[in-house]
Amino acid sequence: MSSNLAIVKKQMRAACKEAGRNPDEIDLIAVSKMFAVEQILPVLQAGQKRFGENRVQEAQRKWPQLREQYDNIELHLIGPLQSNKTKEAVELFDVIHTVDREKIARALKKEMDSQGREVELLIQVNTGEEPQKAGIAPLQLADFVSFCRDELQLKIAGLMCIPPVDEEPALHFALLKKYADELGLEKLSMGMSADFETAVALGATYVRVGSAIFGARDYR
Ligand SMILES: *Cc1c(COP(=O)(O)O)cnc(C)c1O
Repeated sequence: MSSNLAIVKKQMRAACKEAGRNPDEIDLIAVSKMFAVEQILPVLQAGQKRFGENRVQEAQRKWPQLREQYDNIELHLIGPLQSNKTKEAVELFDVIHTVDREKIARALKKEMDSQGREVELLIQVNTGEEPQKAGIAPLQLADFVSFCRDELQLKIAGLMCIPPVDEEPALHFALLKKYADELGLEKLSMGMSADFETAVALGATYVRVGSAIFGARDYR
């Protein structure tokens, strides 16, 4: 696990060099969803601080105890957020990548105000316009960003996407980068185990890497 982490970091550095980017601009999120605490420990011991989970409840089971043992853990929510889980999400996560509708934006604003806690927020964009996939449609993105900024006074840090499995991810990464530039947003969460090098080349500032670090997930 920790040797995989070292390999991924090396690949990121090589991709940065190739693309003429500064490695400090890109943050690696180790996606620990479906991996147990015992499997996460070696990666923590290797010095990784930034982790991603896709379910609030699973993260609640795993991370409070790990945070007692390790300082400065940064936790990212990269899966869909239900509005009845916003309280827990704001308590637990430092960054939420999956804001994609007004109801969630409102609920997050309310929770952050009442907890007095600022969470970094990214909007998930359904760049492939897939009906089953979360994320705001590209055509509605500009209005949604205005709604968050102007109506809710909610700070939006950037955009996130998950390309369709059967399409060239580069097209989606380039599209996300274009939207972010148009809207003046800095952070770009894109790229997973299979395509993080492509994402780095196209401007990612967060890459979300799971299986290349932890091994294959067991979905049974
Ligand atoms: C699981 C997951 C990842 C990591 O996927 P790997 O292919 O294991 O690297 C990244 N992003 C999201 C949103 C995920 O759900």
